[in-house]
Amino acid sequence: MRVAISRCLLGQPVRYDGGSKPVPEVMSLAGKVDVCPVCPEGAAGLPVPRPPAEQREGRVFLSDGRDVTAEFAHGSDACRDLALRSRVSLAVLKAKSPSCGVNLIYDGTYSGTLTAGDGTLAARLKKEGICVVTEDVVKACKPSVENPVAIVLGTGLGHLGSLVKPVRRIDYHDIEGFPAAANPVSGHVFEATVGTIDDVPVVVYPGRIHLYQGFSAAEVTALVRHAHRLGCRDIIFACATGAVPGCAHTGLGILTDQINLTGRNPLAEWEELRDVETPFVDMNDAYSPYLRTVARGVADDLGIAVEEGVYAGVLGPCFETPAEVAALRTLGVSYVGMSTVCEVIMAKALDMNVLGLTLAANESGAADVTHESVRAAAEAHSEDFERLVRGVLRML
Ligand code: SF4
Repeated sequence: MRVAISRCLLGQPVRYDGGSKPVPEVMSLAGKVDVCPVCPEGAAGLPVPRPPAEQREGRVFLSDGRDVTAEFAHGSDACRDLALRSRVSLAVLKAKSPSCGVNLIYDGTYSGTLTAGDGTLAARLKKEGICVVTEDVVKACKPSVENPVAIVLGTGLGHLGSLVKPVRRIDYHDIEGFPAAANPVSGHVFEATVGTIDDVPVVVYPGRIHLYQGFSAAEVTALVRHAHRLGCRDIIFACATGAVPGCAHTGLGILTDQINLTGRNPLAEWEELRDVETPFVDMNDAYSPYLRTVARGVADDLGIAVEEGVYAGVLGPCFETPAEVAALRTLGVSYVGMSTVCEVIMAKALDMNVLGLTLAANESGAADVTHESVRAAAEAHSEDFERLVRGVLRML
């Protein structure tokens, strides 16, 4: 996996003040990937040290008033071309900078005030379809004992839990909000394990309950709230789905977005939102672009075949009719299943970083799908699924 990283984040003394801004989490990532170091201001030939620069009304000025718009464009073009030649899929750039900043940059008053916008390099890389994040995203996704990675496993995928070096186990029935009457369906186990996988702190939930079993959206998302209370910031949802013919094939997939067709929403049942003035939750980038890109990079590095696509969550428990399959295809849906959407909504409301992985066990609408056939297909891909999850954990 090739990643463009701002030189100053790697500890190189290229900043306007002659210093650097090394970030341990970024340095750690740099040690696991092929790094393409970039510094658009350096590539522009600007000296070190130099007066600080900021963007104002689409142009770039040094604090001494000099217009360096052309220099920034030249340096950013050079770094973009380098990134494209190097085939980077991810860029980790210094936050707030007029060249490297992502979504938020200094506003041109040299007062430390921020405004919405991208640095000149960040804007160019985004235009090329490269995932661009700041060091803050890498830091926020870094697991630790205090912030383990939560992994919620679906039908046939629960054996990943056996990889955990356990520290303690938690019966689901001891989890607040989890229904006492719930019993595992075939292929699920109702005991979470706190521990490590390859030395990465994790909490693995090797089974879930579903809306189609008659449980409420609040109940099916109890595990997500539990993971959040345990300190988890990253949460990986794995689910079995049907691949919508014409949009996806059977096999492993990375979820890019979702459509909630269940008719339920856990936030409407969540007491904590009842008295809140603005209970509205932004669902843009519900599936973390950073985690998705890392997962894709890991899969490519390991030679694991994965596709990417939108997930539609339906209530179930019946499978889709031919008309429904046609409708899903028209909606641009690649994967359809009976879980995950409510959990992702809850995770997003709790500001967690979500990675959605699926095993498309069959074609949506196929006539001979049974719980057993889904489990058998999951088993057939279990090794690749396990390698993918372990690869992602190692990369964080
Ligand atoms: S241009 Fe980017 S890499 Fe270079 S010093 Fe500025 S923020 Fe760092």
